[in-house]
Amino acid sequence: MAKVAAVILADNARDAEREARNAQSKGADLTEIRFDAFRNFDETAVRNLAGSVGSRSIATFRSTAQGGVQGPPQNQRTRWLTTLVALPFAYVDFEQATDGGRAGEMRRIAKRHGVTLIASHHFTTPVDRSRVEDMLETCASIGDVAKVAVPVTDVQSAIQLVDVARARVKSKSRVVLIGTGMAGMLTRALADDAGQEIHYAAWGRASVPGQFPLAAAKRLRGRSPIVLGLIGHPLGHSLSPAIHEAALEGLDLPGVYLPFDVDPSSLNAILEAADRLHVRGCNVTSPYKESIVERLDELDGDAERLGAVNTIVFGDGWTAGHNTDVFGFRLSLRSMGIRVGDRRALVVGAGGAAKAVVDVLVREGAKVQITNRTVRKAEAVADSFDEAVEALPLDALPRSGPWDLLVNATPLGTKEFGDAVPVPASILPKIGYVYDLVYNPPTTPLMAAARRAGKPTTSGLEMLLHQAAKSFELWTGRSPPVEAMRRAAKEALR
Ligand code: NAP
Repeated sequence: MAKVAAVILADNARDAEREARNAQSKGADLTEIRFDAFRNFDETAVRNLAGSVGSRSIATFRSTAQGGVQGPPQNQRTRWLTTLVALPFAYVDFEQATDGGRAGEMRRIAKRHGVTLIASHHFTTPVDRSRVEDMLETCASIGDVAKVAVPVTDVQSAIQLVDVARARVKSKSRVVLIGTGMAGMLTRALADDAGQEIHYAAWGRASVPGQFPLAAAKRLRGRSPIVLGLIGHPLGHSLSPAIHEAALEGLDLPGVYLPFDVDPSSLNAILEAADRLHVRGCNVTSPYKESIVERLDELDGDAERLGAVNTIVFGDGWTAGHNTDVFGFRLSLRSMGIRVGDRRALVVGAGGAAKAVVDVLVREGAKVQITNRTVRKAEAVADSFDEAVEALPLDALPRSGPWDLLVNATPLGTKEFGDAVPVPASILPKIGYVYDLVYNPPTTPLMAAARRAGKPTTSGLEMLLHQAAKSFELWTGRSPPVEAMRRAAKEALR
């Protein structure tokens, strides 16, 4: 089982000791004391630190060349390391590139003091698999544990690292192999599953991007992992990780929700590797909602009808596509008491979200009109329904209406579009209720204009939550803690 090590970045020995005690009492198996973050080396305080928390600590003094914090002068590293390896620490980390020449001496002292040596290397740029394997071999030849960290920029490289780590563990090597950066989070999520020696976790702020907080790393320890994620390209900022993390934490499930930013050529790699990576489910976002349909084994009724998938469930060798946007929009109408049967609705936009909205509205019995910047696309959406849906050009709106409900299903309203609104403000008096699918910012320019006109409004947050809750239920079979998910979403929006 991988030991979970909380990384302590205090700037002096007393604070580090206090933080380490705290992290250990909160369930960290180990604490990594980062001596490179210290301002000075007070030998008495360091001995006290080693005496009190050292038996469950890793002593690390990272060089600045390998990502160390700019702390004490680097020319003191050698002296510090020699002192540290003779103290009662469980592990001491030394660098193959900087300290490898003294490996023999380090090993002798470490052996005398019962210290396990981690020989580490931190690549500063991505390298190919063979260089990672060579470096692991080199580190293993001079330390008890070989640790290699390498920046990862794509999912395929992260998958390769997981495979490399598994192969080394199988051959009885003690190994830590980390893909750094957001794309490398998979290697951390599967550290325990792959049999790695240590899973480094954040205590407070992460020391590098992609590190999991201690609480998430603890949930994964010794349990079969549930990997969830979001597939898209490029992946902008999303609330989904915060929402699903809250659900996993609320139910104490050994899961993580990862960003899978995959370009079209790598899409199959993640689908094919899902089983061995313990991927139980993914959300799908732009640009794959429609193109992924043909790669899946089954579709639910909503996904089939709309030809779009926002949720994949991975089974034992099979994949099922769902469209929980439909469920999310329908439930949000109910939960907010918005009745649409026999009412007149205007939908703006002609993308996947607009299609899901029109689908729900026509099934609920509303009379639906649809408008879009490119009217031809609105006509295509209207034609795709058996029920009567009328397409209107945007410039016809001042002569049309009134509508009981307006739904914005374009991205206008998100921050990058400034104050732009998707329909002329002059039509707002003809509208009963304004529903903006945009949820960030919580009050969009359209909602603000509608409120000024005295109209009730809602943002897309409720829909987002209900579609997320449905996806979560499909993946885990558990009833999701919607209130905790809502709190997490609101917190992330602050
Ligand atoms: P999409 O498939 O890319 O469609 C975007 C639509 O917006 C298209 O009709 C496009 O018009 C129109 N559009 C884009 N930029 C525009 C601009 N500058 N001016 C006028 N119209 C513009 O996107 P989608 O998946 O349908 O999503 C649409 C929005 O709904 C996004 O903001 C998304 O975040 C939101 N959404 C929210 C939820 C939720 O749970 N709350 C769920 C799904 C989506 P053209 O056809 O002319 O290009």
